[in-house]
Amino acid sequence: MGLLQGKTAIITGASSGIGAGIANELASEGANVVLAARRTEKLNELENEIKEQGSGNVLTVQTDVTSRQDVEELVKQAETTFNHVDIFVNNAGQMLSSQVLSGKVDEWEQMIDVNIKGVLFGINSILPSMLERSSGHIINIASVSGLEVTKVSTVYSATKFAVRAISTGLEKELAKTGVRVTNISPGMVDTSLVSGSSWNNERKKLETKDIAKAVIYAVTQPDYVNVNEITVRPV
Ligand code: NAD
Repeated sequence: MGLLQGKTAIITGASSGIGAGIANELASEGANVVLAARRTEKLNELENEIKEQGSGNVLTVQTDVTSRQDVEELVKQAETTFNHVDIFVNNAGQMLSSQVLSGKVDEWEQMIDVNIKGVLFGINSILPSMLERSSGHIINIASVSGLEVTKVSTVYSATKFAVRAISTGLEKELAKTGVRVTNISPGMVDTSLVSGSSWNNERKKLETKDIAKAVIYAVTQPDYVNVNEITVRPV
């Protein structure tokens, strides 16, 4: 029996990369998974893949995390299908032109909307029911760019510093409520987010399952243990 049998997890940005990896790993531990992203055909492919492996139940909900209404509807559908949600993974994210000198204001707005507002919408939609049950776990996928800034990462880093600030403050706000918050800061992972960027470096990249394992670690601790921060870098 999997470590997460009977639990339900929502994963945003599940249509590719780290989100798909997390969904696979949670399902292989027996969790019901709710796959949320904009590209339904990609979500349906992942749904079939998970079902073929014979792991937990899967629900797919087309969601744009920049739409508060979409995120509220996502939580509603998940709760209607699985009764309640134990784990909410705020994973959806974008990394676009990040130099202030680039002047690409539209791309900054997009990153702010997805990376910051999307995370806040997710938290706001799931918290009331988690607080009511005095139980639940919010996982925010930040980045090592939320710990350090380079001259090409200014705006993306700003959004990821914000994610870490939200995780840190929320953990304090939620003390003694039974609801846990974990901030995960991945280094370079082999996904489409970095393959199309100039951020490639010579270190071996992590695989999506390396981040998924960090999620499994955080959510399988005893319920009085809150793993607040995990940073995972390639060697
Ligand atoms: P990815 O591009 O493969 O995945 C990003 C996911 O977010 C996709 O499924 C995409 O469709 C989804 N998404 C984007 N905008 C969305 C929106 N408005 N609504 C719903 N979904 C949306 O990249 P990834 O590397 O898997 O990124 C996942 C997370 O990990 C991001 O938050 C990213 O910032 C973070 N991260 C990635 C790396 C890396 O090296 N790949 C490192 C650190 C942190």
